[in-house]
Amino acid sequence: MILSQFQTVGSDLFVRGLVSSHSGNLSIKLGDHLIITRRDSMFNSLQENDLVETGISKNDRSTPLAAVDLAIHRAIYRETQALAIVHAHPPHALALSLHETKTVPGVEGLSVIDDVPVVDCETGAKAEKTENIIARALKEHRIILVNGHGSFAIGQLLEEALNFTTALEQSSQVLCLLKSLQVSSVKD
Ligand SMILES: [Zn+2]
Repeated sequence: MILSQFQTVGSDLFVRGLVSSHSGNLSIKLGDHLIITRRDSMFNSLQENDLVETGISKNDRSTPLAAVDLAIHRAIYRETQALAIVHAHPPHALALSLHETKTVPGVEGLSVIDDVPVVDCETGAKAEKTENIIARALKEHRIILVNGHGSFAIGQLLEEALNFTTALEQSSQVLCLLKSLQVSSVKD
């Protein structure tokens, strides 16, 4: 049951090109534990041994097997009401996150999401840990972009977080098309 949720969302993200063969990570919260995809797992063919259960606050034997972004997932579960997290690398949204400094605007009438903030974890607030910056941003938004890295979406179910992720990429794609039309109309 749990595996099939991960498989459905993982292969959907892969087929849509929102993650590469070995990137991205998914998790769900179970009490004071979480189940997260294994480090370097392949989203298009997730199996039982690709899911790692470990503590939200405590380490155990399974902790080293978890995805590299475990600290971010843990911080999000500590700081928000999220029960599921989807981290992906949607290409059009990523391009906009490098281009737009603060937000990627939602496209009215098209999207289930509003403006998506772009969080900068590289420069500026160096005193604060990356996971805390991301978790704080997700207190007020259902999905955010990390500058030059990717998206983090939260929901009650993985499917809900997937919905926000695909919505972000779709509106980003429209915005990229619009920008390219504006560039070509200037040339004309
Ligand atoms: Zn990533």
